[in-house]
Amino acid sequence: MAHSPLPDVEIPDASIYDFLFTGLDEQQLDEIALIDGTSGATTSYRQLIAHVDLFAGALAARGVGVDDVVGVLCPNVPAFATVFHGLLRAGATVTTINSLYTPDEIENQLRDAGAHWLITVSPMLPQAEAAAARVGIPASQLIVLDGVGEAAADGVGAGHPSLAQLLGEGRPAPEVSFDPATHLAVLPYSSGTTGRPKGVMLTHRNLVANVSQCSANISLAAGDRVLAVLPFFHIYGMTVLLNFALDRRAALVTMPKFDLVEFLRVISEHRATWVFIAPPIAVALAKHPIVDRYDLSSVEVVFSGAAPLDGALAEAVAARLGCTVCQGYGMTETSPVTHAIPVDRTDIDRSSVGILLANTEARVVDPETGADVPITDGTDSWSEPGELLIRGPQVMQGYLNNPDATAAMLDADGWLHTGDIATMNDEGLFRIVDRLKELIKYKGYQVAPAVLEAVLLEHPAIADAAVIGVHDDDGQEIPKAFVVVQSGASLDASEVMAHVAAHVAPHEKVRRVEFIEAIPKSSSGKILRKDLRAREQAAAPVA
Ligand code: AMP
Repeated sequence: MAHSPLPDVEIPDASIYDFLFTGLDEQQLDEIALIDGTSGATTSYRQLIAHVDLFAGALAARGVGVDDVVGVLCPNVPAFATVFHGLLRAGATVTTINSLYTPDEIENQLRDAGAHWLITVSPMLPQAEAAAARVGIPASQLIVLDGVGEAAADGVGAGHPSLAQLLGEGRPAPEVSFDPATHLAVLPYSSGTTGRPKGVMLTHRNLVANVSQCSANISLAAGDRVLAVLPFFHIYGMTVLLNFALDRRAALVTMPKFDLVEFLRVISEHRATWVFIAPPIAVALAKHPIVDRYDLSSVEVVFSGAAPLDGALAEAVAARLGCTVCQGYGMTETSPVTHAIPVDRTDIDRSSVGILLANTEARVVDPETGADVPITDGTDSWSEPGELLIRGPQVMQGYLNNPDATAAMLDADGWLHTGDIATMNDEGLFRIVDRLKELIKYKGYQVAPAVLEAVLLEHPAIADAAVIGVHDDDGQEIPKAFVVVQSGASLDASEVMAHVAAHVAPHEKVRRVEFIEAIPKSSSGKILRKDLRAREQAAAPVA
């Protein structure tokens, strides 16, 4: 077992609002909290807190409080911070929804989470209205951040309150009381080790803990300008940007979606000092010729997470930008951060995910026997690979309404079984070397094979199907479908891909197809993904 090499930190018994936004001095209140990367408009901490309070007041006046779950379907705009923290201030539980989701996927999440309110922006209103109508959310409970003008001819946009209207009511923030250790702050969705996306129950304490733990390891500070391109709806952007960076009194520079040219423009124009990314952005930063046309000299740290970062790629980014590149690791079920390379540890190989955050323990165990793998002495010796187990105050309470999935992941001693394969050394460094679980990460986004397999089986010409993650030429993970065609039917790969693309969000598309005689299955009917992976490896050209 390994314990963080860092001393434990105190985790205040506070709500996330009290933890982040009380006790700021005049100078801190005047600091910039948010910069709209598109328009350049700024919001100070004083303005942000005032808006958060007013939004909480308007929600409370409508009866929204500790018993409510509210969906948020928004890209990264500055008002996301107002809405997110206003909901938490009012005591509501926030379920953030992937803004690329189809109406069916939005509906599934709203229904599963028990959400009775939804917050969106006008470009996403058609999807939001469709999903809201199906789960019975009335127009008056679908708030549109940017407001909408006249309702369209088909009625889209009619009768929704806007953020400006609600703030304009001028109501004081409510007095709300709950236990931060047990009250659910957020319900992000993750498929975990298997199956469909599930609601991950994270309390105020989980979030306060992870911010406190990040503070002890990640040296972000007031005066830093942090590029907020990672989606706020995903736990990485939510905790690291909306909570941790604001706790550090840094300024967030928001970008509603990734576009390389805009990304480079925003960094150079707003002089970003920290850039949190997922690995595909590192590929662009290392390789794309256009990068040389921008002044990126303000960037001090590029921090990558959400999927494996290749060590040579990290070095290439560091050399090209003249900055430090760090890697961290975590998952939705751990709020999310459990490991990070501290910025000043230039000795640490960038292909490692660094050391455990404060207050965090880990084990690497043989997945078959559950026995801890031995750690041998010596700086360059790494343990045998095994499943990574995590214990700490950032570990989730469980999956919403799903005791079986919870029990499969969280054992009686509080160890969370990550489904990732790691090795560690006697210096307390970890590397993530493989994944035991079926989850696929496409550009850092979760893709659940179970969801794609269900869509594939809906096609009349498909008799059976299985999906695994494979690697493209850049080393990035992509979903590949193995498909068994119904006897007598004919089907080509492009038809299979088009069928899936019509039913899922863009990041969930199947990007490779192989036709196969039969899907390998266990005697109990479970897909033998490891056999498919072995087949894939056997077919790969020898490097
Ligand atoms: P999510 O819950 O969407 O954050 O996905 C969590 C999963 O992403 C982990 O269980 C890992 O499989 C993967 N992951 C996150 N960070 C890393 C990393 N630095 N290296 C390798 N895999 C990672």
